[in-house]
Amino acid sequence: MISTKCISIQLSLLFVLVNSLSIPNHIVSNSPIQNNNETHLKENQFQLEIENIIRPAFEVPKASLPVGWDPNILSQEPFPDWLRSFTGLTEWPGLDPPYIPLDFIDFNSIPNFEPYNQGICPGTRDSCSFDCYKCVEPDDILSCDKLSQTFDDGPSPATPKLLDHLTHKTTFFTLGVNVVRYPEIYRRARDSGHLMGSHTYSHKFLPSLTNEEIIAQIEWSIWAQNATGNHIPKWWRPPYGGIDNRIRSISRQFGLQAVLWDYDSFDWQLLSNQRTEQQVLDDARRWKSQSNNPRGLILEHDGALQTVNVGIGVNEILGSDQKKVSECVGGVDYGRVFNLSIKSI
Ligand SMILES: [Zn+2]
Repeated sequence: MISTKCISIQLSLLFVLVNSLSIPNHIVSNSPIQNNNETHLKENQFQLEIENIIRPAFEVPKASLPVGWDPNILSQEPFPDWLRSFTGLTEWPGLDPPYIPLDFIDFNSIPNFEPYNQGICPGTRDSCSFDCYKCVEPDDILSCDKLSQTFDDGPSPATPKLLDHLTHKTTFFTLGVNVVRYPEIYRRARDSGHLMGSHTYSHKFLPSLTNEEIIAQIEWSIWAQNATGNHIPKWWRPPYGGIDNRIRSISRQFGLQAVLWDYDSFDWQLLSNQRTEQQVLDDARRWKSQSNNPRGLILEHDGALQTVNVGIGVNEILGSDQKKVSECVGGVDYGRVFNLSIKSI
């Protein structure tokens, strides 16, 4: 049982966290990504994108559900009392979490860039869209000084197999709906020393949403991780790379920093036979062989057995000399870790 005092502890800690947001002074500027992968935008291509304004900078699964999504699974993590009194709800939301107002969110500071649907890009790059123009801001994490895997869309029933085989500590960007459906798997990954980040609550394409809907996606993912893992995430990855300065402005108010990627395994295409395991592994070998000290963040998924299997293969190719995102940038693992003994007061 968690007392009312604990609710105020949790909320005040969240407020402290937001006020203590610090932004590392590394990373890249507001410019197209400079790397060697196949989605690299050369300057002339970039100009072409501006003139034609249409297609996203890279291929993404459009308007689809999370990798490996199964609609028939119920939440297993109990809905905590502190969340019940705070939200008025009695159970974890489904794919459309309700917006719950929060005192510390300053709507006036959110820039007024128009929402856009996936694949229909804004006419200018003023909003610094990553999915449209591969635009990044100084506090976005784009790469790593060690070529390292990252896994999105879990936890899932396939995740334990990955945990059994990984030979390094990695980063999981988890979906709130899956965190509360597979809380034991989430805690196992956390207890194994992996970094648990947020991938929003239910994997919507954020640029198409209202400010309130974006807040709902972030707040519920944080609450799912807090209730299940007793921590608040510091690192998050927007689904489909869908982020612009309207969304950054909101996520920063939660103390979150966006983590993108510079290599895409396209492992989700294994599920529709658009890609073979061999192709994914060949890419990993090529990325590794580009330098004596290969660097980068690879986008992978632990939502399905096929993507987990290839992830194990990629681990065998890259070896154990990989980093968690927090290690890549010399940062903390979490925005806050709650002491269980405080919770029982
Ligand atoms: Zn995803």
